[in-house]
Amino acid sequence: TSTRTPLMAGNWKMNLNHLEAIAHVQKLAFALTDKDHEAVEVAVLPPFTDLRSVQTLIDGDKLKIKYGSQDVSAHDSGAYTGEISAAMLAKLKCTYVTIGHSERRQYHGEDEPLINAKIKAAFQHGLTPILCVGEELAVREEGNQVAHTLAQVDGALEGVSGASAAELVVAYEPVWAIGTGKVCGEEDAQEVCGAIRARLAELYDQETADKIRIQYGGSVKSGNVAKIMAQPDIDGALVGGASLDTDEFVKIVRFRD
Ligand code: PEP
Repeated sequence: TSTRTPLMAGNWKMNLNHLEAIAHVQKLAFALTDKDHEAVEVAVLPPFTDLRSVQTLIDGDKLKIKYGSQDVSAHDSGAYTGEISAAMLAKLKCTYVTIGHSERRQYHGEDEPLINAKIKAAFQHGLTPILCVGEELAVREEGNQVAHTLAQVDGALEGVSGASAAELVVAYEPVWAIGTGKVCGEEDAQEVCGAIRARLAELYDQETADKIRIQYGGSVKSGNVAKIMAQPDIDGALVGGASLDTDEFVKIVRFRD
């Protein structure tokens, strides 16, 4: 029996401007009950330009929704035009930051050394990284999903201490299931998530590995979330498309109902 609190995080990707973000978070806050917040941690991951507005709303009304960003710079400050530092995000009281999302890997050439540097920058400033890993379709077709994903975990966590790692969240997101409507079967998802936890126990120790929340991501909806959440090594979901629909996202939060 796990003592890990499930984390349902909504990755809005490049959707919702700051006014839409306020309306969206208000609607979500209105729908969620204290009972929901006791059972599940709920987070939103808006675009950078929304974060100040989301912070003001959540802080001002003492809402229990957590928030964070979708990326972070590996650098602390300086001549890095267009980048946002972990210190800036910490100043906005972000809790989370997704690092190494497949869309960053695919469209922005992010590789393991860069992701590793971003993870370290996030930890240094008290942000909790949601490390995104997962294989492309061709890798799964060859049956290499576990080795591929574990290599991403190893690379991302090189030189990260056990004390930091205990705070980490890992999101297993098979690339072929993201935004495609093709959800990974729950047993296939568990295979990789279980292997991730075993690797974390090797890299650190079992106690640390047992603290780390491992999410599944890839076409999660209210209709498939319960089966996924029933798996022993899956502790939440990273939700893209379905997080833009408040009713659907609330149903995902209430996966036990
Ligand atoms: C994601 O963006 O991390 C994701 C899982 O997207 P979707 O839920 O739309 O597949």
